[in-house]
Amino acid sequence: SSRWSLKGFTALVTGGTRGIGHAIVEELAEFCATVYTCSRNQEELNKRLNEWKEKGFSVYGSVCDASSSSQREELIQNVASSFNGKLNIFVNNAGTNVRKPTIEYTAEDYSKVMTTNLDSAYHLCQLTYPLLKESGNGSIVFISSVGSLTSVGTGSIYAASKAAINQLTKSLACEWAKDNIRSNCVAPWYTKTPLVEHLIANEEFVNQVLSRTPIKRIAETHEVSSLVTFLCLPAASYITGQIVSVDGGFTVNGFQ
Ligand code: NDP
Repeated sequence: SSRWSLKGFTALVTGGTRGIGHAIVEELAEFCATVYTCSRNQEELNKRLNEWKEKGFSVYGSVCDASSSSQREELIQNVASSFNGKLNIFVNNAGTNVRKPTIEYTAEDYSKVMTTNLDSAYHLCQLTYPLLKESGNGSIVFISSVGSLTSVGTGSIYAASKAAINQLTKSLACEWAKDNIRSNCVAPWYTKTPLVEHLIANEEFVNQVLSRTPIKRIAETHEVSSLVTFLCLPAASYITGQIVSVDGGFTVNGFQ
């Protein structure tokens, strides 16, 4: 039924060429949305766009470094002209991390993580707002992290940037409900992507993670994209302001 379809919906997913963003682009397209995505690498982006075309998905894209204010503005101009000034779904996925003990971080590390994760999310919400409002049925999904909820050694800048995203989720849910825009947040635990490849290649590290994770494995990207997709469906029309962990039970586990 139409409650379980994104037919006629337009979506923007930042960072769609790899990892969680890639799975989100594909799943939104499988539910019949028309998707726009971006990344910093033209060659890889073109490759993905061709693959999606071959699969019969409607996916468009252009290069954008989400940490650059002028490139964000350009991106949203492209999205607006591709989608006639209307956007139903904005998935703020692009994010990065630098892992160090707090006292070792440089001002550059701080700026890199904060501008990529938080400044970009905030500004892209400001920029997409008129398009989301114009669609008459808007939905924002932020990709946060379990590291925003509990201390898991991800690095304190990353944790702070994601915790700010969690509160932004709630602020926008309340401020923009009048415009028929919902705002929700998905907080993944370790998920098999290039971002954490080097960590999950380390057996000792993985064992430590799994020792605290009731579902004794690392997540697959499609296990995160399914929740993102659900939150965008008409079926989720009364859900807003929520932060949902996709974590195999990690955040509710004390010890046993
Ligand atoms: P990956 O590094 O595997 O993929 C990131 C994607 O975003 C790539 O397509 C990358 O392309 C793009 N990207 C990165 N930086 C930028 C930028 N500045 N501007 C535009 N695009 C960019 O990351 P994940 O899929 O693992 O992570 C996605 C989100 O999920 C992040 O917000 C991350 O914090 C979060 N997350 C991930 C977890 C995990 O275990 N993997 C756990 C919890 C949260 P390119 O580099 O070419 O620009």
